[in-house]
Amino acid sequence: MTIRLFLIALCLVAVASCTPATGTDRAQQADLVLVGGVVWTGVPGAAEATAVAIGGNQILSVGSDADVRAIATSDARVIDLGGRFVMPGFGDGHTHFIGGGFQLGSVDLRDAATPAEFARRIGDFAASQPAGRWITGGDWDHEMWGGALPERVWVDSLSREHPVAVQRLDGHMMLANSLALELAGITRDTPDPAGGTIVRDVRGEPTGVLKDAAMDLVFAVQPESSEDEMDEAFERAQQHALERGVTMIHDMGSFGALETYRRAEQRGALRMRVYAFVPIAQWRQLASYVADAGRGDDLLKWGGLKGFVDGSLGSTTAWFYEPYQDEPNTSGLMVTDTAELRTQIVGADSAGLHVVVHAIGDLANDWLLDTFEYAAAQNGARDRRFRIEHAQHLSSDAIARFNALGVLPSMQPYHAIDDGRWAEKRIGPDRIQRTYAFRSLLDAGAGLHFGSDWTVAPIDPLLGVYAAVTRRTTDGANPDGWVPAQKISVDEALHAYTAANAYAAFMEDRLGTLEAGRLADLVVLSADPRSVDPSLIPELRVDFTVVDGSVVFERQ
Ligand SMILES: [Zn+2]
Repeated sequence: MTIRLFLIALCLVAVASCTPATGTDRAQQADLVLVGGVVWTGVPGAAEATAVAIGGNQILSVGSDADVRAIATSDARVIDLGGRFVMPGFGDGHTHFIGGGFQLGSVDLRDAATPAEFARRIGDFAASQPAGRWITGGDWDHEMWGGALPERVWVDSLSREHPVAVQRLDGHMMLANSLALELAGITRDTPDPAGGTIVRDVRGEPTGVLKDAAMDLVFAVQPESSEDEMDEAFERAQQHALERGVTMIHDMGSFGALETYRRAEQRGALRMRVYAFVPIAQWRQLASYVADAGRGDDLLKWGGLKGFVDGSLGSTTAWFYEPYQDEPNTSGLMVTDTAELRTQIVGADSAGLHVVVHAIGDLANDWLLDTFEYAAAQNGARDRRFRIEHAQHLSSDAIARFNALGVLPSMQPYHAIDDGRWAEKRIGPDRIQRTYAFRSLLDAGAGLHFGSDWTVAPIDPLLGVYAAVTRRTTDGANPDGWVPAQKISVDEALHAYTAANAYAAFMEDRLGTLEAGRLADLVVLSADPRSVDPSLIPELRVDFTVVDGSVVFERQ
């Protein structure tokens, strides 16, 4: 008998001792342990724990400090939490991430509170940029100065050499200066495109504001961003998100964004999880992309499509049954031809792709629920997890249909405390009762999950938790909450940001809770958000962010 055969024979006698070290065995030893904290696992009814052990990219154990220390290697990193709060990493169910990265490098109009300040910031930023460079982003909000739309004449003299195309923070309106209008060929003779409006003054001249599809006329003449610019925007956005505890985004992007994430993964620079969606009009292209390249991996996945039914409340383009109270000549509009959108939804679903669609107004939501029901009937049973992005204003009937149809409401709580300042003047006292109806949806069993819609709102989940729990509008006018019957608990809000987001990405078997065997994504907060006064939740610090077992952000 050769030595080799002899060893094999011995191994047959004592299998365990001869099994070569495998990845799993090594992973049973923790190289990162967190002890002395308050661990919120996200598992309903789970025992209180103080410590988490991580080996490789997985959670090995959640339990007592002693349990966790017992499996740490001698050179494991030990983080002593000193009573701080540990929870699964925050998912963000709805971002426009690359745009966010560009925004971080552009003019910031979000808190410009007067027309003069709005103009000054654009003028100052233009002065810092080479002539000819487009000025985009902005995220202005005309409700800040009482609701008058901005006009190109405010900024023309400050931006003669720069085309300006800055957007309202909801992305459904743009202010273009005269140079940008000229480049886009927009004059008083240009008709409104389908699904869009060129706002005009009393003489019929364009004021510079373009709504929804009218913005496409300007987008068409903007130079495309280079790969390097996209990569830089991504890096800025990623760092910004990790500092706020976001470990996964569902990005409502484009093929250009998807390729940016793939480049980041290839160069080892993807430090968070991304579920990348592309526009539903490109569903056939995505179907063949998936056929060629699969659907990615646990760090970066794709296979989802995002469509639009209507516009936004702030731009009075959300599609309602009844007219707007403050603009009684309109009840909003469909931004996509509904017959075409229905064909796209049915087609994309039949190709096995994941369909999520933006709907804001009550009629838009009902139309979409009907259409999802129709598509499911056409294509037969499967685990499809249709989502309504925003699901902002619901009919009474709609609330129960989410659970009945298995459609997930993908909502952004910060919008409630932002729009809550002025929503009632726009849609009146009845419709606001079913606006951002978090409580009603949870009570009806809907798979409510949360995100930011960054850059429409800040990418800051703690601000979102605060918003969902308090519903205190940003103007301070509703200290007990705007439509307080729709408040939810901190636990429910945390769930909507973690496990519910994992479910909405088909990843609930490996993400979203702190349990042995799950992927190791977690955040450490400076205190337990369940035990501080809710008004202080936005003040909590994110001290550590861990993704896939690595510390990717650590507050200095
Ligand atoms: Zn969005």
